[in-house]
Amino acid sequence: MHRLESMSNPIQIAVVGTGYVGLVAAVCFVEMGHSVVCVDIDEAKIAALKSGHTLIHELHLPELLERYRNTRIRFTTNLAEAICASDAIFIAVGTPQSETGDADLSYVESVAREIASSLTTYKVIVEKSTVPVYTNEWIRRTIESNGIARSLFDVVSNPEFLREGTAVTDFLHPDRIVVGSDSEAAAALLERIYAPLTSGAYYDRPGAIPGRCTATSPPPLLLTSTKSAELIKHASNAFLALKISFINTVSNLCEATDANIEQVARGMGLDNRIGPRFLSPGIGYGGSCFPKDIAAFRYVAEQLGIDFNLLAEVEKINTEQKKRFLARVRSALGTLSGKRIAVLGLAFKGGTDDVRESPAIDLVELLLAEGCSIAAFDPAAMQRAQEEVPAGPQMQYVDDAYTAAANADALLVLTDWPQFAAIDLKLLHHAMKVPIVVDGRNLFDPKVMQQYGFTYISIGRPSVQHSRALELAASQTF
Ligand code: NAD
Repeated sequence: MHRLESMSNPIQIAVVGTGYVGLVAAVCFVEMGHSVVCVDIDEAKIAALKSGHTLIHELHLPELLERYRNTRIRFTTNLAEAICASDAIFIAVGTPQSETGDADLSYVESVAREIASSLTTYKVIVEKSTVPVYTNEWIRRTIESNGIARSLFDVVSNPEFLREGTAVTDFLHPDRIVVGSDSEAAAALLERIYAPLTSGAYYDRPGAIPGRCTATSPPPLLLTSTKSAELIKHASNAFLALKISFINTVSNLCEATDANIEQVARGMGLDNRIGPRFLSPGIGYGGSCFPKDIAAFRYVAEQLGIDFNLLAEVEKINTEQKKRFLARVRSALGTLSGKRIAVLGLAFKGGTDDVRESPAIDLVELLLAEGCSIAAFDPAAMQRAQEEVPAGPQMQYVDDAYTAAANADALLVLTDWPQFAAIDLKLLHHAMKVPIVVDGRNLFDPKVMQQYGFTYISIGRPSVQHSRALELAASQTF
């Protein structure tokens, strides 16, 4: 398709579910030139979106929503009306973990049933949510079992790989677009939807959101079977989680041998076959995707009689990593009970307000259970964190890092927000009662921390001790 043609070939799209994925996808489709109607069952969310509030913290999202709010994007709770108005219906509802570990597909199922009750002309239904292999077939059977003729619809798998915090840029500058389709007509519609990106036309447009892709280096669209597309998503997340657990275990080896994980990771990452990304050690992965997707993938393998115990190890290492961090805090402080701890970071990673399965929240809960009192700060996740761990006499939410540090026995860095790395260390040192920093994200240079008078404990790197901090900690251990 010609480049200009691909920017002027708008498709009518419905996106069902306006969470992190649905809202970002919808706004980006509009930015690519299409018209979108967003559907959600949450009336308060739809009302907020209609009045221009994005409700989630994502770079570029507010400006794009504002640009298109009264033009090519609209919001409704009426799915039937949205289906009627659209050629493609993207399902982007949640697929949480069920009690047995597999994906809970009840939200997907209820959308599929509702679609079935409104289908009168041919539509392409697109599975955007992360789902186990065979879900595409199951959606098709669900719709057919509601009396809809096979000729009236196709179901395509189009997994999403965006990362919270950089979601808009990731969507518009993807490494790849995966389209799993067993129908040529449905695949062709998806190719038309993504043509502004795959042709490169979008990147030449004035005001395009900048990123990795360019008109001469656009993203590839990979056409696969539906089952391969479903497996690509689960396998990719499982592989990334494996990389994290692997480097975390290597960091433990570094701690045991006084080696330095930064040097080891760099030495590994320079190997083209390995690559440098996802080799930063920390307090373990979290978020709304990795934990549930690894569990669901493991469940799928089990059901199919495939031994994938490797994934159980990945999960075990991840749980242990948090406990190990807590043990290091305990050993730095002698005892935890009664200590005042400053916590920097509550989101599961920097750049987002999402605290779902956040290792930072897990650690806060463990510290509270040990009798610590906590003063916590996060640049974006304070409100969502308070829904998980309510404020109280032992749990204080404060407005900045220095207030959190005031009179603290130790400061913990739990989320990799770049602004934490830019903290004024002199002010921080001045604020703390005992200058001990336990850094779960390796944001600081140990030598610099030592110069500023901190005892500094990080992941997989030799700790630096500062005599005043040690004396003060010892004097308070009884
Ligand atoms: P989310 O919880 O933020 O949003 C889901 C939305 O769906 C909610 O607004 C909810 O009200 C709505 N919803 C539920 N049932 C509905 C129905 N019947 N009709 C209309 N709306 C309904 O979830 P999310 O983080 O956007 O994730 C969505 C899917 O995308 C999941 O499968 C997830 O695994 C996958 N995914 C997420 C990410 C991520 O970073 N968050 C990345 C890639 C893929």
